[in-house]
Amino acid sequence: MKTENEIGRESIDVHSFARPTEAVAKHLDLDIAVNFDQKIISGRATYQIENLTQTDQIVFDAKGLQIEKVFLGDSLTETNFRLGKEEKFLGQPLLIDIRPETKSVTIQYRTTPEAAALQWLTPQQTAGKKHPFLFTQSQAILARTWIPIQDSPGIRITYSATIKVPKELLAVMSAENPQEKNNTGEYKFFMRQPIPSYLMALSVGDLVFEPIGEKTGIYAEPATIKAAAYEFAEMDQMLTAAESLYGRYRWDRYDLLVLPPSFPFGGMENPRLTFVTPTVLAKDRSLTSLIAHELAHSWSGNLVTNGTWNDFWLNEGFTVYFERRIMEELYGKEYADMLQVLGFQDLQHTLDDMEKKDDTRLKLDLEGRDPDDGLTEIAYEKGNAFLLNIEKTVGRERFDQFLNKYFQTFAFKSTNTDRFLEFLRTELIKGDEQIAGKINIDGWVYSPGLPEEHVVPSSARFAQVEQTYKSWEGGTPATALTTKDWSSHEWLHFIRMMPEKLTQQQLTELDKAFGFTNSGNSEVLAAWFLHAIRNNYTAADQALDNFLTTVGRRKFLVPLYKELLKTPQGKKKAQAIYAKARPNYHAVSTGTIDEMLK
Ligand SMILES: [Zn+2]
Repeated sequence: MKTENEIGRESIDVHSFARPTEAVAKHLDLDIAVNFDQKIISGRATYQIENLTQTDQIVFDAKGLQIEKVFLGDSLTETNFRLGKEEKFLGQPLLIDIRPETKSVTIQYRTTPEAAALQWLTPQQTAGKKHPFLFTQSQAILARTWIPIQDSPGIRITYSATIKVPKELLAVMSAENPQEKNNTGEYKFFMRQPIPSYLMALSVGDLVFEPIGEKTGIYAEPATIKAAAYEFAEMDQMLTAAESLYGRYRWDRYDLLVLPPSFPFGGMENPRLTFVTPTVLAKDRSLTSLIAHELAHSWSGNLVTNGTWNDFWLNEGFTVYFERRIMEELYGKEYADMLQVLGFQDLQHTLDDMEKKDDTRLKLDLEGRDPDDGLTEIAYEKGNAFLLNIEKTVGRERFDQFLNKYFQTFAFKSTNTDRFLEFLRTELIKGDEQIAGKINIDGWVYSPGLPEEHVVPSSARFAQVEQTYKSWEGGTPATALTTKDWSSHEWLHFIRMMPEKLTQQQLTELDKAFGFTNSGNSEVLAAWFLHAIRNNYTAADQALDNFLTTVGRRKFLVPLYKELLKTPQGKKKAQAIYAKARPNYHAVSTGTIDEMLK
């Protein structure tokens, strides 16, 4: 429901009930207890608010929350509230009676065990096997399942929090964090920079901290901390490289939290504390572009934020571009080129596969739908391709100046597609029709597919892989191929080059020579399993089963289940595996796979 004066506003968030132009939250004091036995969080959320129109009502988003009582002001005077009609994906508006002079609202509430943002892991599902574990995933609109909140990326709040947890566990948040356990089980947090609600994050577990640099470090379970510290040893250099590109890091510390394998994403850019999947612990630092990506979000996304989920490409397209620039600074152009090519391959698959062609436009229309529908390679790789096209048109130097100014101008603000394009026109195009023609805003932003003038990335190192591959095709035995010093990117390219149909003999030969089935690299494994499924290579069955029952990262799960579902016999396998694996997956992953297996 939208009020009259919101209609025609340039940035209407169709995924939130909040009416921030009337009454808006500015600061949150969260005081909650985490109960592992009941799998609930309960306590109070106190908001400092601004009543902009002297309205008698403030609206928050809630989904599956039990709202017990609501109070106004420091005197905690009880007030009336009601939960409005439930809507698909969105939950309910929480409508609270306020007065024109009301400065604060305190909501007493509890979550339910079904809260989609919360994943409660049994000790068995952790690396250490001794203690339970909890983590949240608020993006895109799941913060409202664990906190009553104005859940729109166009609204920013600062926060403080008091979190009570079992004494043997440590709590960490997207905030200033403790570095060790205390003996009370009560922890205090501050986030002094204003953030959008989807960056609210909490994790509780048997965690230890290991510093990397002065401003960087890692949280993980004791069983994982050493491997993580080795894998991410270069995070300090990444931070330096990022700052040299696009200006000062504005969030003080940058730490990582390595989660158990069920985490549904590669990483989540929670400010000050990126949540990361352990599937990038490849023992050779070959998958750390993911850290560069999450770090880059400290500028694109966390600092300058997409105003609605229809503008998601502003978060992800810029971040992919920035991520590859960081990787280029650290490892050179040849390395970054490989990432560009792999990304471009992903984009082409997405463009081929996507049924709704309108969803291949950068500016999306997700009204009435789950904003997760916009989480595709279009936002990431088509967004990046658009920026590469601008870079090519005006030159890197000018484009970097422009980006620096963009991050400065919109720091700690939300923006949207229109506002970005206006900034692009006034700061970079400046009425030059030739440049405008080449940049082709309409073609990229508002039209489906890929405009003709896109940059086609190429990679010298991949050219060598292609030669090696051809020589294998031409009869050279796999054991005689030159693959020395290949990174996981080269291996991935090699595996992706293989044709759909392979004989048992070919698969066995490759597997024997390169040990794909037993690879410790999740990207290599996931690409290899696709061939194994397609060609019924049963020698990989057990490894596939293990992978799908331990890893919860949706990016890997979806293509593998999809491939299994193509044959009746594969479908049986998929159902059997899913029955075992489902409890290990986060709601973000089960939501997608339930739908596929239905
Ligand atoms: Zn991202």
